[in-house]
Amino acid sequence: MIAFDNTQVAFQDKSNNELRKAYWLFRMIGNPLLVKVGAGLTRFALASRLPVSWALKPTVFNHFCGGETINSCDETIKRLGRSNIKTILDYSAEGKESDEDFDYTRDQILATMEKARTNPNIPYAVFKPTGVARFALLEKVQLEKSLSESEALEFERVKNRILTICQRSYDLGIPVMVDAEETWIQQIIDELVEEMIFRFNREKPLVYGTLQMYRHDRLDYLKSLNRRAREKGVFTAVKLVRGAYMEKERERAAEMGYSSPIYPNKAGTDKAYDDAVAYCIEHVKDVAVCVGTHNELSCQLGAEKMISSGLPKDHPNVSFSQLLGMSDHISYNMAAEGFYVTKYVPYGPVKTVVPYLIRRAEENTSVAGQTSRELLLLSTELKRRKYSK
Ligand SMILES: Cc1cc2nc3c(=O)[nH]c(=O)nc-3n(C[C@H](O)[C@H](O)[C@H](O)COP(=O)(O)OP(=O)(O)OC[C@H]3O[C@@H](n4cnc5c(N)ncnc54)[C@H](O)[C@@H]3O)c2cc1C
Repeated sequence: MIAFDNTQVAFQDKSNNELRKAYWLFRMIGNPLLVKVGAGLTRFALASRLPVSWALKPTVFNHFCGGETINSCDETIKRLGRSNIKTILDYSAEGKESDEDFDYTRDQILATMEKARTNPNIPYAVFKPTGVARFALLEKVQLEKSLSESEALEFERVKNRILTICQRSYDLGIPVMVDAEETWIQQIIDELVEEMIFRFNREKPLVYGTLQMYRHDRLDYLKSLNRRAREKGVFTAVKLVRGAYMEKERERAAEMGYSSPIYPNKAGTDKAYDDAVAYCIEHVKDVAVCVGTHNELSCQLGAEKMISSGLPKDHPNVSFSQLLGMSDHISYNMAAEGFYVTKYVPYGPVKTVVPYLIRRAEENTSVAGQTSRELLLLSTELKRRKYSK
């Protein structure tokens, strides 16, 4: 089984200074009180239009983001590329409300595709549906509530933005992944994404939907999507993740009195996740999958499944992906073994990226063991370097 404990490989492109900085960052993130107070203060500073960059840029921003603009990510892209890791540029604007902002985000996605066209280290583009659409509008459409005239027009503009992005993906041959969000808008997102999959995935997998495997209906959905795609003669393409909104989903279900869409325990999610990865690899002729996880076992099982199925490690239809600044031991060791590995590299003005950074800090605090694992790996490598002199 592939091992992830080689810290020399994991941190091969980090200086001692960078490792020490990362260590202290994860020490801070590992403190729930500090994260709670820090997140509160940052939100307050933003709302009061106080400057936040001076504190965030040299710390969390530089660790988890590639830069403030596409071109300022060049150094990160090159650096990852030297270790055989590809970059997915992720314009991380969240919670926007105006058409102007949504058009701007669409243009950023198109610009990342343009960049990808000439840079072999950027294989995909990505976007978050609420980066190009108002959350409340998607919710209303999903509920099949009647839309006012202006809302109907607004929804047409949303569909046009998505079509423009997917059409460009087709024209340039650069695949695009669509992130998954909360269940109360995900059904409409699935419908919009399916339409694009059926339209553009004829010759090769280009439009990827995202499946959150903490949902107990997703394995069946994957199979149904693949069945329908096959009938239409198109590729199924999915990014598989466990899901980022578990607490919110459960709270809402309890408050509103419907049964939770999430597996009751982690073991259920883990099994569904690994079954979905195995299913995709078994159907690799007409299914493309991005295995998006920081879970070591899921990556090991996925890698084993590829090998036992006789697939080359760098099969173009199976990639493994982690977020920049997290789980380098998985990314770098898998890439060194010849697997197809990508990193999500978020970018954007510091202020715009703040909600993303707060989520990263909160996730590292709440996902059991994640921060202590990062700390252990960093300190192991620092010690290794000290004693190997
Ligand atoms: C490249 C990439 C892209 C991503 N894109 C998206 C996206 O588009 N949409 C999205 O929602 N998330 C996305 N995520 C985040 C992802 O959904 C997870 O939140 C995160 O990766 C942690 O899960 P894991 O598999 O890495 O690790 P693990 O630590 O193995 O799993 C933690 C996850 O397991 C699940 N879980 C934990 N406890 C329980 C429990 N008691 N019962 C049931 N399930 C439980 C939750 O989903 C939790 O986040 C992405 C992650 C990556 C790496």
